[in-house]
Amino acid sequence: MKYDIIIVGAGPGGIFSAFELTKLNSNLKIAIFEAGNPLEKRKCPIDGVKVKNCIKCPTCAIMNGFGGAGAFSDGKYNITNQFGGSLYEYIGKNEAIDLMKYVDEINLKYGGEGTRLYSTADTKIKKMCLENGLHLLDAQVRHLGTDINYIVLENLYNYLKDRVEFFFRTPVERVEKNDGGYTIITADGSYDCDKCIISVGRSGSKWMETVCNDLDIPTKSNRVDIGVRVELPAEIFSSLTDELYESKIVYRTAKFEDLVRTFCMNPHGAVVNENTNGIITVNGHSYEDPAKHTENTNFALLVSKHFSEPFKDSNGYGESIARLSNMLGGGVIVQRFGDLTRGRRSNAERISEGYVTPTLAATPGDLSLVIPKRILDGIIEMIYALDKICPGTANDDTLLYGVEVKFYNMEVEIDKNLETRNKGLFVIGDGSGVTHSLSHASASGVYVARYIAESMK
Ligand SMILES: Cc1cc2nc3c(=O)[nH]c(=O)nc-3n(C[C@H](O)[C@H](O)[C@H](O)COP(=O)(O)OP(=O)(O)OC[C@H]3O[C@@H](n4cnc5c(N)ncnc54)[C@H](O)[C@@H]3O)c2cc1C
Repeated sequence: MKYDIIIVGAGPGGIFSAFELTKLNSNLKIAIFEAGNPLEKRKCPIDGVKVKNCIKCPTCAIMNGFGGAGAFSDGKYNITNQFGGSLYEYIGKNEAIDLMKYVDEINLKYGGEGTRLYSTADTKIKKMCLENGLHLLDAQVRHLGTDINYIVLENLYNYLKDRVEFFFRTPVERVEKNDGGYTIITADGSYDCDKCIISVGRSGSKWMETVCNDLDIPTKSNRVDIGVRVELPAEIFSSLTDELYESKIVYRTAKFEDLVRTFCMNPHGAVVNENTNGIITVNGHSYEDPAKHTENTNFALLVSKHFSEPFKDSNGYGESIARLSNMLGGGVIVQRFGDLTRGRRSNAERISEGYVTPTLAATPGDLSLVIPKRILDGIIEMIYALDKICPGTANDDTLLYGVEVKFYNMEVEIDKNLETRNKGLFVIGDGSGVTHSLSHASASGVYVARYIAESMK
């Protein structure tokens, strides 16, 4: 079977490349191969009653399937070059912002209309942060919310399904070069194409490495971010979240001069498990619909680690720390801040007596047995720094879930067209190691689609 273009992975990168290709040239024959399920069949078995913890399904309903890792996310589309990836280094700052704005327009057109766009421009919070040794990064953020994000994906699927051939539950095993194009090999058969776009996200990181080895594509090790998810009463952070929704704040620790940053803020949200290659870590999301709001706000505090010589496996380091928490807690561990600073583990009784009700059923334990001292010291310092702008952050009952690990794919060598040294083979989205957010991954999809459509005229 022969296609003009085959896309591997139906996350935001794959979806937006398909969307733009079909808009620019409706005659192109396009197929998308996706390891996971269609959107409506993506159901995590954890129901809190019969199944309380992750049972390690062969493909994770949260990470894999139409919509990719972002399908049940909070749907925060950050329009900025200051975080979320380094796409701008390849395509230029203005182009990157223009593409993110274009993605925003499509999201609004396909169900996101009426959702709020927050901005750090002209905020007094920036000054307040600076006065307390904290740095607020500039961004606009469209908050779709988990519910509207789902509707946008449904609408995009309804648009694409008659224009693109979908192969769900069909992980691509290998990509081989053929005369003038590529052969995509799956357990069910082989498919040829002139051009191939790989957009396999973080869950496809190990597979991406094998593709790079097979096709002789150079890679570089990337960083890994390690930390905790903080959960506290929503009122404590409301001065930030009411105005900005999500704020990316960076703090340089006094002790080690390490940078600690806030990440993925979810006002009135819920803390959730995340399964990456069988390792359980923590994440968070929230709904746009007020009926689904919780009383808590959650956000991550992360420290980046980058290894190069002689040890290069930054992700392996992060995985080992996450495995340790899985070994001690059977999954994610939760600890009260007051227990952590007093050097004692949390137990079920102390958690239930606390004034913050956990939104995730995690195992009470001791994060100091899991997270390296230097990282944990930085996190504790930052909690006290945040307490100055949002008093109450350092309360004893503030909950810390661990570990939160942000794995980054190794950086694949691609050129300014996001094309590998094998002509016609493009690597986009988080799978390239270049992006790590919904907006950057989606923008990279549009960018490559425009380049391919132009070159196939
Ligand atoms: C719980 C959670 C919340 C998040 N919240 C936010 C947020 O609010 N804002 C934000 O900017 N980012 C958020 N992120 C990150 C965001 O989801 C990702 O940056 C984004 O989805 C990356 O898009 P992508 O297309 O590159 O990859 P992905 O979304 O990971 O999609 C890749 C797809 O490829 C498929 N695949 C992998 N290997 C193969 C293979 N061999 N064959 C076929 N298919 C394959 C996978 O099944 C997957 O569906 C969140 C992530 C999680 C997990």
